[in-house]
Amino acid sequence: MQFSISKPAKYALDALEAAGYEAYLVGGCVRDNLMGIPPHDYDITTSARPEEIKRVFSSCHLVLDGEKHGTVSPVIDGTMIEITTFRADGAYSDGRHPDEVRFSTRLADDLERRDFTVNAMAWSEKTGLVDLHGGAEDLKKGCLRAVGDPQKRFQEDALRILRGMRFASRLGFELDPATSAAMHELAPRLENISRERIFTELTGVLQGGHAMRVITEYHDVLFTVIPELFPMYMCPQKSVYHIYDVWEHTLHVLDAIEPRTPLLCWSALLHDCGKPQTRMRDRKGYDHYPQHQQVGARLAERILLSLKVSNAFLKDACTLVMHHDDEVNPATAKLLMYRVGPERFEALMSLRRADLMGHYLPKVQKELDAIPSALERYQQAVQEHECVSLKDLAVNGDDMMSLGLQGPDIRETLEQLLMMVLKDEVPNDRDILLDRARQL
Ligand code: ATP
Ligand code: MG
Repeated sequence: MQFSISKPAKYALDALEAAGYEAYLVGGCVRDNLMGIPPHDYDITTSARPEEIKRVFSSCHLVLDGEKHGTVSPVIDGTMIEITTFRADGAYSDGRHPDEVRFSTRLADDLERRDFTVNAMAWSEKTGLVDLHGGAEDLKKGCLRAVGDPQKRFQEDALRILRGMRFASRLGFELDPATSAAMHELAPRLENISRERIFTELTGVLQGGHAMRVITEYHDVLFTVIPELFPMYMCPQKSVYHIYDVWEHTLHVLDAIEPRTPLLCWSALLHDCGKPQTRMRDRKGYDHYPQHQQVGARLAERILLSLKVSNAFLKDACTLVMHHDDEVNPATAKLLMYRVGPERFEALMSLRRADLMGHYLPKVQKELDAIPSALERYQQAVQEHECVSLKDLAVNGDDMMSLGLQGPDIRETLEQLLMMVLKDEVPNDRDILLDRARQL
């Protein structure tokens, strides 16, 4: 079999073997290789103990963050290669971390502790493929199967449930029935897992090309980790603009979102989370959701805070949720740049486009068609450094004071002037703006 292996990874394998140790590529890079996908990194598993790995690579810079788990990472030709001693994990009394890291001298032990059969294969030039759990067969079938007893494996570490969803979403694979049943059953154990790790794995689920199918099948798992989303499930959406309920609509938006960045995927998932709380049915039987953007932005904030995301991510996502329903056309482009910040404008257009794609299309074609022209207007505004914020305005607070304004009137007047400029009602010209200020 033809294996693609980077020069640094080959160097590392050769160096370990030359020193008398067993060494193999393992995990994702073997899986990707068999699928014909270029691996994004190479992990090595070896019989050498951490201090022995350090000795073999004593001439390299060594990253030692993972040393107590047996991982030593030499930097070879500028690339970090993770090299881990064969492990045979002990008991997991907290459902998260093995109570002790036990090193082993057998590759078989190391493969047995891995999550899915397709991730539990090893390869070396000398030995070829080592596949003790039928990983290659499962790979061919597009099947994710836990190594060993799925119940036990998810009890040991519930994060594997989300990892299963992530691989299914990325690779388009099906979960083996027994593995799938255990995922549903043991989802409550995710309560023991750190929120940061849940966020990371969920982000991977959302970014995958098969996210809609996977979340449809495992919505119960998602609602276990983010119960705030449950009210969206089967929330009615009777409207001439819609053909799906709120939850189905959300999944269609997630399906359509491009590019599949973490920010856009999370914004797609959360954009309508304020709808269940704000739903009102009118006398004709149609649903309305007044202020669902504001309510949704607040709920999105709560959800993302609970997942311990960075402040920058929180701000970006909540801003997009807050403005996802704003009117979009060339005439509102600069207003939107002001509201969300120019750096978020393109993301807002992506969300808007995906949102509309999840509507009844004949009813929203005009709004969809307006997006490219709004983007053009935005690009023009950027190129020509047009005024899109108070600090770009050709007049400032001092000018207002010299007109005799005081206190809050100053900012209010400046904002009124800015609105006129954003709507292209007046040019950003000092004399004209001073004149307008006098009229105000
Ligand atoms: P990716 O392409 O996303 O990096 P990967 O398979 O390399 O996929 P990693 O998270 O990098 O995934 O993990 C590397 C390997 O370590 C996996 O292939 C798997 O064998 C093993 N592994 C990682 N996390 C776990 C876990 N929680 N339980 C068991 N095995 C795990
Ligand atoms: Mg990896």
